[in-house]
Amino acid sequence: MNPYIDETLQVLGEHARRFASGRVAPGFLERDTTRVLDRQLMHEMGEMGFIAPELPEEFGGQGMGCLAAGVIHEEIARADLSLSYINLLASLNGQILAQHGQPHVARPWLRKLTQGKALLAIALTEPRGGSDAANLRLRLERIGDEYVINGEKTSISAADQVDAVVVFGRTGTVESGAHGVTALLVPTDVPGLTRNRFDCHGQRAIGRGSLFFENVRIPVDHRLGEENKGFVQVMQGFDFSRALIGLQVLAVARVALEEAWEYVAQREAFGKPLAAFQGVSHPLADYDTQVEAARLLCLQTLWLKDKGLPHTAEAAMCKWWGPKLAYDVVHQCLLSFGHGGYDRGVMEQRLRDVLGFQLGDGTAQIMKTIVARTRAGRKAVPA
Ligand SMILES: Cc1cc2nc3c(=O)[nH]c(=O)nc-3n(C[C@H](O)[C@H](O)[C@H](O)COP(=O)(O)OP(=O)(O)OC[C@H]3O[C@@H](n4cnc5c(N)ncnc54)[C@H](O)[C@@H]3O)c2cc1C
Repeated sequence: MNPYIDETLQVLGEHARRFASGRVAPGFLERDTTRVLDRQLMHEMGEMGFIAPELPEEFGGQGMGCLAAGVIHEEIARADLSLSYINLLASLNGQILAQHGQPHVARPWLRKLTQGKALLAIALTEPRGGSDAANLRLRLERIGDEYVINGEKTSISAADQVDAVVVFGRTGTVESGAHGVTALLVPTDVPGLTRNRFDCHGQRAIGRGSLFFENVRIPVDHRLGEENKGFVQVMQGFDFSRALIGLQVLAVARVALEEAWEYVAQREAFGKPLAAFQGVSHPLADYDTQVEAARLLCLQTLWLKDKGLPHTAEAAMCKWWGPKLAYDVVHQCLLSFGHGGYDRGVMEQRLRDVLGFQLGDGTAQIMKTIVARTRAGRKAVPA
């Protein structure tokens, strides 16, 4: 228990842990090989109410608050980081659709999303770069009651497995920057849209790939937010997902630490348990301390969001600190297992999985710029 997790949330977390250890964890290694997200599991997660519980009931959620989403998210991630993308993508895209979609378009998608019957991606990054996100070039041309899309998005999580994509494209001039970007909901079965799949280092069950748009026609009512305001309006949703990503990777670090402590307490060298050697136990103690603190920061960020208070800087802190720390922690845990840690197995897969989030959703440099801009002001930190 801690000040953010009351008894109700603790029970919810235990419920999610039972499901995750019984249903999600057993396929963790196999999904890394098959590279397929288990749709049956996704459906079960929907039936249990584990997907985007923070959405209002009218949109298929349970109106539970973002801390509840975080508590479930970390339990699924503890069992399989790739599978917990289901929660991450649903919470991020669910919020965007609920806040900015036209109800008759958004509602059926939100229902399928929360029921675990649909998966949505978010497509911002383009081949020319992801950090300078407002400088995107995918062209959206308004013709009558439709937008015609031409161009390419790349490095999109679950690109070849999703049913629809929230796509950001340019409706204004290149010079208009963030003020000439529009967001659209694009079902992936439309003519003119093709996809591929990369061979990724980690997060292989979710995967990444490119989306190629060739005269793809989407009705105007699929727009999210106003024309040319997609970037400014929709980017708010990223503060939520950044806190969730922090919890997601730290959940992996926590389970790695638990296993490492158990191992070093029983394995012996020079006639003593490994844990008796400070060279073994102090790095683990250092990381355990930092993980506790970083997790509290993520929970604090979700608490601020639930209270409707500003949390942009805190979210950026979660997003750079969490993935860096989780990688260092899992690395140290792997070394604690000696040569066995280097074999194909849970520890090396965790290391590959958490590394992706030092890039995905924005790098540490960009996150630190957001913190600096929030603290010192946009005039002092323009980009
Ligand atoms: C696992 C994973 C999942 C992803 N999922 C998605 C997704 O679902 N949707 C999506 O749209 N994108 C996704 N991405 C793409 C991701 O958002 C980009 O990789 C990221 O934003 C960085 O963009 P880039 O790779 O083009 O690097 P670049 O922008 O080319 O940057 C290269 C390097 O330069 C640094 N750099 C750039 N500008 C600055 C600056 N001003 N100051 C200091 N350093 C700077 C960066 O930090 C980085 O280290 C994913 C990537 C990964 C690895």
